Amino acid sequence: MTELFKSTVAYKIISGDKKRGHLSHAYSLVCEDGAALNRFLKVMAKLIVCNDEEFCDQCRSCRLINKNTHSDVTFYPREEGGRIAVADVDELIAQTYVKPIEGEKRVFVLTKTSNMLAAAQNKLLKTLEEPPKNVHILIGVENENALLPTVKSRVKRLEIPKFSDAQLIEGLKAECPDYEKLKKAVALSNGMVGKALEYYNSEYSDETADLVLSVLKNMKTSREVSTFSSKIDKGNVREFLICLKKTMSEIIRYHARGEGEGFIAELSSVYKSGAAIAIIEKVNQAERSLFFSANVTMLADNVLLCILEETYRWKKL
Ligand SMILES: [Zn+2]
Repeated sequence: MTELFKSTVAYKIISGDKKRGHLSHAYSLVCEDGAALNRFLKVMAKLIVCNDEEFCDQCRSCRLINKNTHSDVTFYPREEGGRIAVADVDELIAQTYVKPIEGEKRVFVLTKTSNMLAAAQNKLLKTLEEPPKNVHILIGVENENALLPTVKSRVKRLEIPKFSDAQLIEGLKAECPDYEKLKKAVALSNGMVGKALEYYNSEYSDETADLVLSVLKNMKTSREVSTFSSKIDKGNVREFLICLKKTMSEIIRYHARGEGEGFIAELSSVYKSGAAIAIIEKVNQAERSLFFSANVTMLADNVLLCILEETYRWKKL
């Protein structure tokens, strides 16, 4: 995953800044792939703090950052799942005046900025413009619209692009040794490394993912429903529904952003957003009725029929 990040323009810019001794006081890293963003930010922190020309991943500083225990590198929000409040920014500002302990630089990393309050952002402006010497602020941005223009104008903007399937496979093969599984995860990932890893590590089996893809690609008429639904049973029905829902979410995302690669792009030409939303709603219903031990065959038939109906209905619109 680090190798993928190293291939980006964003990485080259910041490592170039470091080599020239002109690291910016504040960078934003724009990346809609939330699952990967924190890992990229961590690499940026190492790049800033490590004494190597780039970063070594072995020195005390790099190791401490990897373990989230570097005393000069602080992540906000402090609590996982929380959001950055005014009090966090107050603390951050106070901390920028504290001398670093391990080395010469202090790094403050802001994540989850999609729901950061305007008041908290406003409070940060002065520090972004003129932080104390050797202080660097990294802002992870999943959704640029959530940032105030005044914040944006004070930081150096870097962006993580979507990756091609080939890049993802190459970049993740060390971390994800099961090649066939990786290929499928990448196909579903819409060019996003965090998504690919999520799929690779997700709880449904390859067989189930295959079955979902096969239904979405090959099932054309209601006469074929029973052929496909006969492959869904008590053992795999839950997995099937989860995987179907994830795939539909990716399709919706693809339509909204208008970019992406691989299998999702292909499916998106068949499944419109409206159809995908209706199918997700149907899957939610099916999950609820499973709870009341519904008949699995009937339930599978229903879901598959819904896929056909919604696809047809939205095609005509
Ligand atoms: Zn290092």
